[in-house]
Amino acid sequence: MLKNINEMHLYVTSRCNMNCSYCSDVIKRTNPSGNPFMDLDIGKKYVELIFSNSTRDRITIVFHGGEPTLQSLKWYQQLIEYIEFQARNHNKKVNLALQSNCMRISDEFIELFNKNKIIIGASLDGPPEINDLTRVNGEVALSNILRLQAINRLGGVICVITDKNCNDVETILRFFEKCGLNSLSFNIFYSVGEGNKLPPLSAKKIFEVYKTTYEYMRSTSGKGVKERSVSIMISKFLNPLSKEELLTNLNCYSPFCHAGIFNIICDTEGNLFPCGCSDVLKFKLGTIHSIDKQHYVNVLKMLHKKSEKYDKSCSSCFANSICSFSCPAFHEEDPITERNLCEATKIFYQFLEEEPREIITEIASGTEFYRGKQTH
Ligand code: SF4
Ligand code: SF4
Repeated sequence: MLKNINEMHLYVTSRCNMNCSYCSDVIKRTNPSGNPFMDLDIGKKYVELIFSNSTRDRITIVFHGGEPTLQSLKWYQQLIEYIEFQARNHNKKVNLALQSNCMRISDEFIELFNKNKIIIGASLDGPPEINDLTRVNGEVALSNILRLQAINRLGGVICVITDKNCNDVETILRFFEKCGLNSLSFNIFYSVGEGNKLPPLSAKKIFEVYKTTYEYMRSTSGKGVKERSVSIMISKFLNPLSKEELLTNLNCYSPFCHAGIFNIICDTEGNLFPCGCSDVLKFKLGTIHSIDKQHYVNVLKMLHKKSEKYDKSCSSCFANSICSFSCPAFHEEDPITERNLCEATKIFYQFLEEEPREIITEIASGTEFYRGKQTH
C-alpha cells in the first residue's frame, strides 16, 4: 500500500493563528479532544513507517497545519535529524517543504529553513486590501513572503479565488508580477466545512478567472506570473496526456488524483489520511501503528470512485484532455462547484480552440508545465 508514496505530509499542529473565512479546517481545530501538537515520537514513527515501506528514491516531506510555525523549533530540529538518519538508512533523497500563512516567520525559523533547505509554500489572496477581505494582516504576510523570496526559500504562493476576489484577477496578477512573485496557484474555492458561509463560484465566474489569467499570460508571453491551473490546462490542450501518462502523473489535476496512492498525511495523533482535503473520519486509512490492507484499499476505492457521469459523459467529452475532474474529497459536500468547474472547463476549452495555436504554444513554453512536444 505504501510502496508508491513519494509525498508525505505532517500535520504538525491543528492550531492556527488566523481565522480565514473560507477555512474548512476550523471544526477540526476547535475539537477540544485532539492533541493540538504532534509529539516528536509520532513524527518519528510516521517517518520510519513511510521510509521503510516506500520504494521511491526521493520523498518529499511537507510540514503542514494548522499553522506549522506554531510548532517549536526544537521539535523541527530533532525530527529533521531523524529524517536525515532514516534517509541514510534507506538510501533515499529528501525534499523538505512547509506550507505557511507567513504571519510568524522569525529569524530563527529563517535560519532553520536555510540550514535544512526547506522550501516554503505561502498563502496570499492578492494585494493586502483584497487579501484582507477573506484573510487578515496581508501586509505582514506579504513582507514575510518577500523576505523568503529574497533568500530563495519561497516555493510558490497559493491564492484562493472566492466571490470576494474573483472580479479582481487581473489586479491580483499585476500585483504579484510587481512583487516579482511569479509562481502562483489560483485555487478555486470549494464551499465546504466552515467555508460554506461563502457561496460557490458560478461557472461563468470560474471561466472568467481562467480567461483573464490566460489573457494576462498572453500579454507577457508566459514570461511573467505563471499561474499553475491555467498553465497546466493549456499544456494539456496542446499535448493531451497519453493513457499511460494519465496513470503515472497522478496529481490534483488528473482524472484520478494522487491521494493515498503517491501522497499521504498524518495528523497530530498519528491517524493517516489520503491527503489534506480528505482528512475526515470516513477517509481514515489507519494509524501509524496499524494499517489494515483491505480497509486501506476500500477507503481509496470510495474516495476515487467516479460518478455515473464519468462513465457516461467524461470519456467522450471534448474537453476531457484539460479537465481536472474536481476534487473527490469535496464531491458530496459541494456538488455545485464540481458542476460549475465542469461547465467552466468546457467553455474554456472552446475559448482555447478559437485562439491561435502558436500563441498558446508561446505562453505554454514559458511555463514549467509544458513538455515541448511537437503539436499537431
Ligand atoms: S468537462 Fe465535465 S464532462 Fe468534460 S470531462 Fe470534465 S467533468 Fe467530464
Ligand atoms: S482528494 Fe482533492 S485535494 Fe486531495 S489529492 Fe485528490 S484532488 Fe487533490
